[in-house]
Amino acid sequence: MLASRESGGVPDELTLPVTAQLVRMRGTDEAAPRCVALRGEVGVAVECTIYTRRPPPCRDFAPYAPLGIGDAGCERARRRHGMAPL
Ligand code: SF4
Repeated sequence: MLASRESGGVPDELTLPVTAQLVRMRGTDEAAPRCVALRGEVGVAVECTIYTRRPPPCRDFAPYAPLGIGDAGCERARRRHGMAPL
């Protein structure tokens, strides 16, 4: 995602630089990826602790998942965590 130092964006301390213009959420490039902003137990109950400030890739991801409608990316992520597709 693009680096943002504007107020209202993702807090800088939760990101790592990729290039001079791009950053990623801390924890998302680990062998067992887990965004540093995620709280809870995957498959049980989780929440994004920066939901109103989440970055564009998160806003664009699986837009119908809250309605119980997945997509390919959503299904890959669920499968990675041993969860059934929506
Ligand atoms: S929605 Fe929140 S917890 Fe999930 S990847 Fe994005 S910033 Fe991290």
